[in-house]
Amino acid sequence: METKSHTAAGHAVVIGGSVAGLLAARALSSSFTHVTVFERDTFPARTVSRRGVPQGRQVHALLTRGAVGLDGLFPGFIDAMTAAGVPSGDGQADFSWFLDGHRMARAVSGLRGFGVSRPQAERMIRDRVRALPNVSLVDDTQVDGLLVDDGRVAGVRIRRHTGAEETVPAELVVDAAGRGSRALSWLRESGYPVPRRTAVRTDVVYVTRHYEQEPGLLDGRLGTTVVPFPGQPRAGVVIRQEAGRVAVLLAGLLGEELPTDDAGMIEFASTLAGQDAADVLRSATPVDEAVKMRYPESTLHHFDELDHHLGGFLVVGDALCSFNPIYGQGMTVAVMEAELLESLLQEGDRQDLAPRFFKAAATLLADPWALATGGDLRFPEVEGERGPQDDEINGYLDRFRASAAIDPVLGTAFLRVANMMAPVTSLLSPDLVERTQRPRAQ
Ligand SMILES: Cc1cc2nc3c(=O)[nH]c(=O)nc-3n(C[C@H](O)[C@H](O)[C@H](O)COP(=O)(O)OP(=O)(O)OC[C@H]3O[C@@H](n4cnc5c(N)ncnc54)[C@H](O)[C@@H]3O)c2cc1C
Repeated sequence: METKSHTAAGHAVVIGGSVAGLLAARALSSSFTHVTVFERDTFPARTVSRRGVPQGRQVHALLTRGAVGLDGLFPGFIDAMTAAGVPSGDGQADFSWFLDGHRMARAVSGLRGFGVSRPQAERMIRDRVRALPNVSLVDDTQVDGLLVDDGRVAGVRIRRHTGAEETVPAELVVDAAGRGSRALSWLRESGYPVPRRTAVRTDVVYVTRHYEQEPGLLDGRLGTTVVPFPGQPRAGVVIRQEAGRVAVLLAGLLGEELPTDDAGMIEFASTLAGQDAADVLRSATPVDEAVKMRYPESTLHHFDELDHHLGGFLVVGDALCSFNPIYGQGMTVAVMEAELLESLLQEGDRQDLAPRFFKAAATLLADPWALATGGDLRFPEVEGERGPQDDEINGYLDRFRASAAIDPVLGTAFLRVANMMAPVTSLLSPDLVERTQRPRAQ
């Protein structure tokens, strides 16, 4: 694809054309004259996974907050998912949830869940960004470095798939290159400080395989999720998706090994609290091979703590913060960062955008990070800083999860937080505290 020649003023460059990069481009398109997204992969013509996003072959949950946000950034997005055959349903009534081995009571929560595959979601976002008149998507092109001038970013160095190298001037550069981002080494090379990093290691292993949807599948429900908990570091998800497929995900934490053969997967799935995954594996016809992926740790870079920023350089998406994927947060957080970026650009001066963005992004990330790492740090084997009140809070949440098996109000409250439609603190409201104290039938 061709790039137009630009002057730096009014031109923004995005590094990486995956979910966070595309959404950042959408946000920038309302303030910049032109936005160029450089992606080192070839964008596939078909709705398939690609090399630069290996996680694209694994089950991806699109949380309610993410779907609502996409519908705001691209009006009509939710209807377009339905038109594309993406199944949806109520997140509590049409889904079976197993928390700490207890099956959550079913009820209508008003939270809509979507069975959209990752390549389908990315494709739909990409098509909409490509249609923006002032955005260019340039694939087969790797960004190799930053141009820096007088304390600000001045553009990027790129390398085409032919090997040809060029420089591209830009007023703003957004790094959305994922967990493999080179932002920190570029900052170091240019003499800028790099942020502190927090990591929480869980050694997650994922295996996903797709099957044909058969009549009577899941008794008509959209899916099932079995959440891991201390003593049972195994998880499973079954979800209907577009194109008449059902995806089965098996996951293990903390060194659990995951099989990819039929018998091994059935045996693993049989150890989960819910039996939907095992039932599908036993009876449904596979449409592809099982694919395994490892995800060692959640990582948060504290750019907000720096007192000296490279002006005009932002980092978003997994390059800024990546979460244990079990909680399904990454795409939704990318949506929220794009909303934030758009509003900060509309509110204030571009000169000090970097400190303003990183400060506000740290606030935005606090809840999803607390949710993911709070769940992980329940496992005594997981290393990380624990607060003095953690035992008390965990004890309360243990009762909460157990009580959600009989009180659907608790299940809805939990799912509102998990879907990022309510803050984590909402779980501590007096009404919910009282409900968790009610006696439970044995
Ligand atoms: C196993 C697994 C399961 C997950 N499940 C979920 C889920 O259920 N729900 C959810 O919301 N999220 C999930 N996530 C997270 C989600 O995939 C990411 O948060 C989301 O893709 C946003 O990531 P990103 O765009 O920041 O980076 P990525 O998706 O990693 O994309 C980075 C892009 O940058 C490109 N790139 C890299 N370097 C360069 C360069 N120098 N020049 C040009 N291009 C470059 C790459 O080719 C790639 O396209 C999961 C992640 C994993 C690993």
